[in-house]
Amino acid sequence: MYFNCLKGICMIDITKRITTKGKALFSKDGKIEDFTFERRALNDDDILIKIKYCGICHSDIHHGRSEWGKANYPTVMGHEIVGEVVATGNKVSKFKVGDNAGIGCMVNSCGNCDSCKVSEEQYCNDMVVTYGGLDKFNNNEMTYGGYSNYYVVKESFAIKVPQNVPLEYIAPLFCAGITTYSPIVFSKVKKGDKVAIAGFGGLGVMAVKYAKFLGADVYVIARNNKKEEEAKKLGVKKLYPSVESVDEKFDLIISTIPTKYEVMDYVNLLKVGGELALLGLPPVEEGWSLYPGNLIFKGHRKVYGSIIGGIKATQEMLDFSIKHNIYPEIEVISADQINEAFEKMTTGKAKFRYVIDMSTLK
Ligand code: NDP
Ligand code: ZN
Repeated sequence: MYFNCLKGICMIDITKRITTKGKALFSKDGKIEDFTFERRALNDDDILIKIKYCGICHSDIHHGRSEWGKANYPTVMGHEIVGEVVATGNKVSKFKVGDNAGIGCMVNSCGNCDSCKVSEEQYCNDMVVTYGGLDKFNNNEMTYGGYSNYYVVKESFAIKVPQNVPLEYIAPLFCAGITTYSPIVFSKVKKGDKVAIAGFGGLGVMAVKYAKFLGADVYVIARNNKKEEEAKKLGVKKLYPSVESVDEKFDLIISTIPTKYEVMDYVNLLKVGGELALLGLPPVEEGWSLYPGNLIFKGHRKVYGSIIGGIKATQEMLDFSIKHNIYPEIEVISADQINEAFEKMTTGKAKFRYVIDMSTLK
């Protein structure tokens, strides 16, 4: 069965496996290279998305370079995906051909456990990650991410994106947006709260924007002062160039730091009762530990971790961001520039978010 897409007949038979072009890493020290692979034929509840933009998250680098454990190569990264629905399975009701849709960090879950029942699918034991994982609901196929031209996804794991929005700005919301929106909602940030954001990159800038929008006094803790101008433009009260230079206390600190650091340095900067939300997921290595006394003598200061957000919350975050014009700071690049972007993101030369224009994929 061929199908009509808006701009003519698309020569894709959706009852057969979908040949997909992508960019992959073939080893942890390698460079991103062309990779052609197949995605599953559409199930009744699947949609086929022609990917228009995909953001580059630091998690892509951690995963691709096996910093969290050995990745399965070749691996196609990318979980900040947005594009156009170009085909739908027979029982799809949420989308029609021509709609925009987004995908974040997960593409399936069991649907029955306590977490799934409250749309916290990210905590389901059977959650399927968008790339680099085995899809137990589809013959244990390896998942490949959004550095590619098509994605086949169950409709309930795709997010509805309205027409007439800037899609290149929408893509990063599906990871950087939801990951920072979640703890800001969880910690009930409100007017007058003192909130510090540690790590001022793709996630950090979104955290700044949400906290500012809610009326908090926002600070940034970076590792240098090179983004002082940008911070000022966003209404940040002060950018500290190091954790050692901070001389005040906060109600909430959100850490998006992707490198090794002393967690207690940040606990020490909380007011009594203050909260430290850990989002950054540095490489797994020796030397991370927490002695109980370190927290006991800090009284009721709290530390919690947070991973992305559920599907319901992701849709809510998207609608909220569009309604209030809260978008990431981006630089659009071509598919040939991914290696360069990785390099810049790991050597302090990146600004905020790189977004790949997938129409440049040859
Ligand atoms: P980016 O590379 O875009 O930004 C990281 C920022 O942290 C950069 O600005 C960098 O500074 C800064 N930084 C690095 N080391 C330090 C340090 N020691 N102190 C202060 N700032 C520092 O990364 P992302 O925002 O995409 O991702 C951040 C982290 O969050 C990653 O570990 C990623 O895996 C994780 N993540 C977690 C998720 C979750 O669900 N919990 C979801 C998505 C991502 P500089 O500008 O100098 O390079
Ligand atoms: Zn991410």
